[in-house]
Amino acid sequence: MIASLYSHRRPVAVVTGGAGFVGSHLCERLLADGLEVVCVDTFETGRMDNIRHLLSHKSFSLVEHDVTMPLDLPHAQVAEFYNMASPASPPMYQRDPIRTLKTNVIGALNVLEFARSTGARIFQASTSEVYGDPQVHPQPETYWGNVNSFGPRSCYDEGKRAAETAFFEYRAKYGVDVRIARIFNTYGPRMSPEDGRVVSNFIVQALRGEDITVYGDGSQTRSFCYVDDLVRGIVALMRAPVAPTAPVNLGNPGEFTVLELAQLVISMTGSVSRVVSRPLPTDDPRQRRPDISRAGELLSWQPEIALPVGLSRTIGHFRAELDSRDSANALLVAL
Ligand code: NAD
Ligand code: UDP
Repeated sequence: MIASLYSHRRPVAVVTGGAGFVGSHLCERLLADGLEVVCVDTFETGRMDNIRHLLSHKSFSLVEHDVTMPLDLPHAQVAEFYNMASPASPPMYQRDPIRTLKTNVIGALNVLEFARSTGARIFQASTSEVYGDPQVHPQPETYWGNVNSFGPRSCYDEGKRAAETAFFEYRAKYGVDVRIARIFNTYGPRMSPEDGRVVSNFIVQALRGEDITVYGDGSQTRSFCYVDDLVRGIVALMRAPVAPTAPVNLGNPGEFTVLELAQLVISMTGSVSRVVSRPLPTDDPRQRRPDISRAGELLSWQPEIALPVGLSRTIGHFRAELDSRDSANALLVAL
């Protein structure tokens, strides 16, 4: 597999976590830009179905590799390195917290070593979780956050915070060209129906006519960004002529309560589902909305897809995926 990499002599982009929800959209965008794309993944939360359509593309390669181990890729021509590898949904990153911490911290050090030795520019997918349960609202990048260092979310939040430190220390000591986005809740086609995040849970529950599980009283807020907007922001940040000297928030400032989201999904799917209350997870942030003025000033970026438009596309995706699963199951029963 490695020997066949870089066969087309185009600039190369490496995407760790490229088989995941966001990573697969990013791979598509980079291929469309004419780069040769190397997707590095372990498939622990990513899915082959997300990238199956890319496998026959002459400029796409897949390397099954764990970022907690040093990267051994041919060095030539890597122009852009995107580090997207990490579970992102709370139930997924809490499945094995020590592994999540290792992926985010040791993984960051490994990808930075690769960038240092090759001269590749490197992007880090950081998160709004570095703000924890924020006491400043909306959250600007200058806010230092309110994070529990040993709660159930800490493996992810602190892992991502330590990764930011590693990126800026490699910049300071070795002059690595680092770009860090703090990504706020993003949704869209190719989210896994099983991954437990609120948008995927509500859509799948609504389409199946199951109860919509609102945690707590549903008054907590989130701001939801459509994946195409996010990918446009990531690439704009990576290609900005001058590297920002600090992280940049990427997200959609449109803020909704979880209950509002549930009602919107029910009305858009025409579902008979009812809303039920479930316990609020420990340390669940009360409110979240990005201040995106820095992205506007540095990248001329702002999101364009409003929640109902993005939700409608996402519902279409889930409907097709669930229908095809039902057909496959019916076939199995018939056999
Ligand atoms: P995802 O779970 O769909 O994708 C993550 C990918 O990383 C998966 O393909 C997984 O198999 C892979 N991976 C995990 N551990 C790995 C390891 N040790 N080595 C190699 N590959 C590994 O999640 P996503 O929503 O696509 O998120 C992508 C990135 O963006 C993550 O770093 C996440 O923390 C960050 N992010 C996402 C959001 C969001 O709302 N989607 C918000 C903030 C930050
Ligand atoms: N949530 C919910 N029902 C679900 C899944 C999530 O009410 O089935 C809530 C969760 O408690 C949180 C918000 O929705 O307040 C967003 O959760 P998600 O896991 O998508 O991401 P988070 O922003 O918490 O990392």
